[in-house]
Amino acid sequence: MINVTKTFLPDQEQYIQYVREIWDRGYLTNNGPVLKQLEAELREYLNIDQLYFCTNGTIVLQIAIKALQLKGEIITTPFSYCATSNAILWENCVPVFVDIDASTLNINPDLIEDAITPATSAILATHVYGNPCEIEKIEEIAKRHHLKVIYDAAHAFGVKYKNRSLLSYGDLSTCSFHSTKVFHTIEGGMLVSNHPELHEKLHLLRAFGHQGDELYLYAGINGKNSEFHAAMGLCMLPHVKDIIEARKEIFSWYDSMLNWDNLSRPTLHPEIEYNYSYYPVLLPSEAHLKGLLEVLAKEEIIPRRYFYPSLNTLSFMPVKYSCPVSEDVSLRVISLPLFVGLSYSDTQRICNIINDFLSP
Ligand SMILES: *Cc1c(COP(=O)(O)O)cnc(C)c1O
Repeated sequence: MINVTKTFLPDQEQYIQYVREIWDRGYLTNNGPVLKQLEAELREYLNIDQLYFCTNGTIVLQIAIKALQLKGEIITTPFSYCATSNAILWENCVPVFVDIDASTLNINPDLIEDAITPATSAILATHVYGNPCEIEKIEEIAKRHHLKVIYDAAHAFGVKYKNRSLLSYGDLSTCSFHSTKVFHTIEGGMLVSNHPELHEKLHLLRAFGHQGDELYLYAGINGKNSEFHAAMGLCMLPHVKDIIEARKEIFSWYDSMLNWDNLSRPTLHPEIEYNYSYYPVLLPSEAHLKGLLEVLAKEEIIPRRYFYPSLNTLSFMPVKYSCPVSEDVSLRVISLPLFVGLSYSDTQRICNIINDFLSP
């Protein structure tokens, strides 16, 4: 079977060496030496001063909203994973969905201002598939209206925008280190801050909000990650460059072998160093998508509907918004298999099936 993704696993012996050391120390979690080492190596790799390794890419969104004390309405994108808008709901805020740009599939900055009300406190945008949002426009709008900006950069590990890690933009950025992402720690996530004055608060918020045994400062949560997860990160990090290179090659195979007459893919920003995290394609209609998934399934090829459904259409959203572009795109977009080890011949087979299916 060929799945949409296959988790990269580093050398088992190397991981076990870390496990032995953790065993010997008997110190399994709570800001231990392996975690500190991972954070130090991430700071260096990403050239970022302040980052916080956490349990997952969802809790970091919640901590970000909490740390910035956001209230009321948060402008966000309907074309993301449900974690983005669920985090807003968990923090008792209202997601206000602003439609996406049809070519980049990121939030359309030209529609943001119309959605701002006196209750708006922030913009939470996703760099969809690791492709940067229109950062300058978003920051300019935020500044003018005194709004905070959080980027859900779950897909953006290893992406550089204007020679800086894409994770370093906004008031806060979050990343996911889930096993399906380009860089992973089994489960995991990271919070990146550009505010030195938030350092102590972020540090405390991910670990219950108290300093030592006596000073209880915030209603913090348990968002800290373990030594075992940090060890996976340390084993993975030296491979990231090669992982991205391997993905880039498969990406270029798809680019050259797919017949683009009835197919398109989102436009990547011209000023990036990309991580090739996903290979999304847009089919002419949802009927085509369903037909294609059936044909591929017969060959045991399993792409993923990603993202589907458009988040503004979820039944539990407190306010209904219409986002025609996102609703349309989410019905006919799939992410094709893309992982280290996917062979040229398998990629070719996938392309042939798609080309045959779509040829008139
Ligand atoms: C994966 C993902 C998340 C959630 O990350 P977890 O680590 O699985 O909690 C959030 N947002 C986006 C856009 C994602 O793709």
